[in-house]
Amino acid sequence: MEKLVKILEKIDGRGYKAYKEIKGSYRLDDFSMFIDHVQGDPFASPSKIRVRIPQSAAGFDPFLFSNKSRKAALQDYICRQFNGSIQKYSKGIRRTGKSGLIHIDSGKQEILERTSLEVNERFVEARFYAGLPARGRRVQGKQCISMMAGEIPEIAFSSMLFSSLDQQGLIRFINTSEDQDYLRGQLAGRKLAAFIANGSILPRRSGVSGLPLSRHEAVKFISPPGLEVSLDTLHSGEIKGMGIPEGITIIIGGGFHGKSTLLSAIEMGIYNHIPEDGRDYSVSIDSCVKIRAEEGRSVQEVNISPFISNLPLKKDTHKFSTSNASGSTSQAANIIEALECRSGLLLLDEDTSATNFLIRDSVMQKIVPREKEPITPFIDQVKNIYDELGTSSILVMGGSGDYFDVAHTVIMMDSYRPVLVTGAAKDAIGSVIDKRVRESGTSFGRITERCPLPESIDPYCGRKVRIKSRGLDHIQFGSLDIDLSAVEQVVDPSQLNTISEMILYALKMDYINGDNAIMEILDLVFEDIGTKSLCILSGYDGHPGSYAFARKFEAAAAINRLRSLMVKQKD
Ligand code: ADP
Ligand code: MG
Repeated sequence: MEKLVKILEKIDGRGYKAYKEIKGSYRLDDFSMFIDHVQGDPFASPSKIRVRIPQSAAGFDPFLFSNKSRKAALQDYICRQFNGSIQKYSKGIRRTGKSGLIHIDSGKQEILERTSLEVNERFVEARFYAGLPARGRRVQGKQCISMMAGEIPEIAFSSMLFSSLDQQGLIRFINTSEDQDYLRGQLAGRKLAAFIANGSILPRRSGVSGLPLSRHEAVKFISPPGLEVSLDTLHSGEIKGMGIPEGITIIIGGGFHGKSTLLSAIEMGIYNHIPEDGRDYSVSIDSCVKIRAEEGRSVQEVNISPFISNLPLKKDTHKFSTSNASGSTSQAANIIEALECRSGLLLLDEDTSATNFLIRDSVMQKIVPREKEPITPFIDQVKNIYDELGTSSILVMGGSGDYFDVAHTVIMMDSYRPVLVTGAAKDAIGSVIDKRVRESGTSFGRITERCPLPESIDPYCGRKVRIKSRGLDHIQFGSLDIDLSAVEQVVDPSQLNTISEMILYALKMDYINGDNAIMEILDLVFEDIGTKSLCILSGYDGHPGSYAFARKFEAAAAINRLRSLMVKQKD
């Protein structure tokens, strides 16, 4: 560390490029610091730094990271503490550009595997960013010394040592997370699609906040007796709650009674939540995919014929392509693409669906003949999807009772309380005289897999690879923008870094070769990540950058929305 201080004293006041001299590794007793990348100017992306503390000093018992689930939770926890210490000890941005900034990629409500913090038998390592201080374009050596030798060690020692942490909080965090994985692991065996624990707080503080609604405003979730199940946990005994069975489930109820809120909780049940989130014992099967209408998206040779046929101008819907899908064709494509990736649970909300895709009622069937309507509504295929592919569906449907016919389970939300009304719903639909006529055959048909052509996926912009994510909704991929705003199960911008690097990685490894279907490509990528770690995406063993776990479904969604994509259908 003395060496680093000397260099900084020497380059004080020089041009910013002189900072390049500090690249390298430094030690202060047990504490090692690696300056892996030095930014070129004060406005550029901040410099990449790692600090490492050996376990002999950090003192995390191997029991705390004894399996994948616990390790991810421990890392996530320390990362949050590191972030908290930044808020406490960093003097923040001063002077020019990003001068003085210290930033680590850490989580919000979800617990995700990330590359920004690593714990293993040998050490704890934080991978973060720092803006090296400048005044104008001159090195501010003294400020940098106070960052490197003052703020950063203080942040590290207050967050990366077991002895400096709230140990009960840490253990509770890890156990809660492991319990969620354990609960999720029981769903398939119990033939459940999702589980919402009694006492959960599902509503969020606002439409733009992930935080729970305050306890005195929120109505706690209580399962109706008919759906109550009891599941085991490793650390909290038995937990009771509502088990949504596999099959077709309809959520009904008046407007503003909490239907969409319940569906959102199921959507997010693919992730583990932090304690106090309110959804911390509510889980869904891993392969659950939210489906919505997405007008304007591009679609490449998707076989949407189970839903759409006889389009005007005889457009072939076995290989349906468009650069501007309608509400119903986009929703059909979203479903087929999710099934291509073997989704086990589709989630649809009437709020974000195309009405004509969901339903065509008996009155309409009388006036517009079947031959004049290209759409086979979802209601007529949802059973085929379950019977043939084993994929369940949960639909929010306040506007039409026709779905009672095909539902296995009907849940009514009544002032934020679920009530099981399957029997009454079946009686009601049974008594209807003039029912709608089913418009599908008894088979959904085969899912046609598609193989992306490598030449249609170009990460270059000019001569340089250019991929960059922007917020939660956009990836710049080469010269194109991938719009993921309708892909609702992305919760963290770093997941988009992961997704775009996965595509690049698949190209480099020749997994995208025109013969592998999208799912096969992603299986290969995930196999590599599984045997090593997310760090393989950066292909560099220093500072890996910021990547957070993302599923195959969201990665496939990005590939499918790349406007240059061309595919070959598998026969
Ligand atoms: P719906 O889809 O039935 O029209 P929403 O799920 O959109 O209703 O919920 C309507 C409003 O009620 C939202 O502002 C939501 O945050 C709030 N809300 C939902 N569930 C609860 C609850 N359990 N306690 C208190 N408020 C809730
Ligand atoms: Mg709603």
